[in-house]
Amino acid sequence: MQDSFVYQMLPARVVFGHGTSATLPAEAERLGLRRLLVLSTPEQVALAQRIQQLLGDRAPSTFNTATMHTPVEVTKRALEVVEAERIDGVVAVGGGSTIGLGKAIALRTDLPQIVLPTTYAGSEMTPILGETDDGRKTTQRSPKIQPEVVIYDVDLTLSLPLMMSALSAFNALAHAVEALYAPDSNPIVAMMAEEGVRAIVDALPKVLKEPDDPRARATLLYGAWLCACCLGVTTMGLHHKLCHTLGGMFDLPHAQTHAIVLPYALAYNAPMVPEAMSRLCRAMRSDDAIGALLRLERDCRIPLALRDIGMPREGIARAVKQALSNPYGNPRPVESVALAELLEHAWAGTGI
Ligand code: NAD
Repeated sequence: MQDSFVYQMLPARVVFGHGTSATLPAEAERLGLRRLLVLSTPEQVALAQRIQQLLGDRAPSTFNTATMHTPVEVTKRALEVVEAERIDGVVAVGGGSTIGLGKAIALRTDLPQIVLPTTYAGSEMTPILGETDDGRKTTQRSPKIQPEVVIYDVDLTLSLPLMMSALSAFNALAHAVEALYAPDSNPIVAMMAEEGVRAIVDALPKVLKEPDDPRARATLLYGAWLCACCLGVTTMGLHHKLCHTLGGMFDLPHAQTHAIVLPYALAYNAPMVPEAMSRLCRAMRSDDAIGALLRLERDCRIPLALRDIGMPREGIARAVKQALSNPYGNPRPVESVALAELLEHAWAGTGI
């Protein structure tokens, strides 16, 4: 075991269970919030309205146009509502897109955030915000970005379509995988990452068979939470940086990009990170973690090639150039020829 390390605890309050949305008014009261803005995507307006009703007079408005990759122009429009309605806190109900909007508002106003996640992407547990401006996604960290309260209500995840559930779970797995070989990893993170992967790998096939199984959904959400905690306290490597580059550059769907790139990024780093690989093998109950990941992807019938989600082949060279223009820590040095090869394989979905 590593016997010298730093572990940064993040100051979030977490309420976990079934039907826990009902605790929202009490959580708002604890924070002394009187004028909350409820955020959602256009697809989750009905849920946002239910949450608004639950809050009664405490929620004068909703803002329902949260958008993937947090475009700054959407944030500007939301900030106008915050000012006009004298908002004193935000409630984000939805996946990473909605949570990203809440974080973008908090970064600029320092307003408290209460988050009710409905996917497994995990943004709620991190002080990280990725924003898109003019086709370029930039990521920053700040204590202002970290949500104050997270209410995990397993019931809100039951409506997440199966494909989205699987993709989102792979996004969560990616957080744990990269945390295991991050330069600032430590025994606490490794423990959470291994348990998070184990929970997801156990629960995902059960959810695919029986989407309404409340116990499997709870285990999946628990695993996603642990994986997100890992992302929140470690430095991202090749996998996340590549997904951010591709997402911002070609407007690719976030979760799909993560799911497709993960086995390739892991294979790129695997020779340099034997300890991370043995933890992954243990969590996945396999002696071939990359093969087990690919098999799970095939079982979930998720897209396996970047070309299938809209990336143009001529984009590979541009993506390599942009990824290399912004150097970052990674266990294996990132070089242009090897990176182009990785992207060629991920683009075509050739497998490993
Ligand atoms: P998303 O929030 O874009 O949701 C995808 C779609 O599914 C949306 O239409 C949404 O309304 C719908 N949806 C969500 N939950 C649902 C449910 N339970 N039932 C039915 N429909 C539901 O997708 P995502 O993958 O959760 O988030 C992606 C975004 O999150 C990206 O912008 C990404 O950059 C960001 N993200 C950020 C972090 C971070 O730490 N900063 C971590 C992970 C993801």
